[in-house]
Amino acid sequence: MSPDTATDATAQTTDQRPIAVVTGASSGIGAATARQLAEQGYHVVLGARRVDRVEALAAEIGGTGKQLDVTDEDSVAAFVEGLDRVNVLVNNAGGAKGLDPVSTANLDDWRWMWETNVLGSLRITKALLPALIASGDGLIVAITSIAALEAYDNGSGYTSAKHAQAVTHRTLRYELLGKPVRLTEICPGMVETDFSLVRFEGDKERADAVYQGLTPLTADDVAEVVGFVASRPPHVNLDQIVLMPRDQASARRNIKTG
Ligand code: NAP
Repeated sequence: MSPDTATDATAQTTDQRPIAVVTGASSGIGAATARQLAEQGYHVVLGARRVDRVEALAAEIGGTGKQLDVTDEDSVAAFVEGLDRVNVLVNNAGGAKGLDPVSTANLDDWRWMWETNVLGSLRITKALLPALIASGDGLIVAITSIAALEAYDNGSGYTSAKHAQAVTHRTLRYELLGKPVRLTEICPGMVETDFSLVRFEGDKERADAVYQGLTPLTADDVAEVVGFVASRPPHVNLDQIVLMPRDQASARRNIKTG
């Protein structure tokens, strides 16, 4: 444990700020969400595999950075240890690998997408649900995608994983009816982050081309929506929010595709 983390962990036990857990907080939407929630007065617990990044951001925003691999049971168990008080969980860790037709689907890419987006969100949710319920006013935000609402060519590994993540989240909304936990699904369209770089295995030219010729959303655009959701009173449940750039009308249509 680094000195910064030790200080933050100590602070977490003594300060009275509500606690927000953000997975995948080392870049993109997760990092922006961690900043946003910290600005709104939360002690943010940031998790990702790149622990140096989450520790650095945690030190900047007065939170706690911890290593987290949502695909690994032991990592999740270590991450949630000591997190007895949790008010908000943002299930953000995820992403896509590849853009292949079903006929040549890469099973390793599929496994990565399902393990991260679907089972990863499930693991963290299961682990933190008792604390969220005990808080008396919990909130679970799932960052799914418009890929959780539609199919698109060559995207079946990602669209099927996002559909599965979303349906799990929507099921929990029913199962928790009567319990003091709100559930919100946020479905973004194109957001310029490292998403495409990860999808195309570091091919920057191919990743950049995705966002050329239109104005995509930024990670902050999505983070502001998470902040709005978190600031609603306990009786208001924003169930599903779809946000896209003006230049995009669906997962299959934008100003470039016509
Ligand atoms: P990003 O910049 O690539 O961020 C992805 C985050 O997920 C990183 O912090 C990464 O951290 C984390 N992550 C990946 N695998 C993980 C694992 N096994 N354990 C823990 N953390 C893991 O992309 P982003 O756009 O911000 O993506 C955030 C979420 O938004 C994803 O769920 C994505 O599917 C969704 N989304 C993105 C878009 C878009 O156009 N960008 C649109 C709709 C939905 P480490 O690598 O450090 O672990």
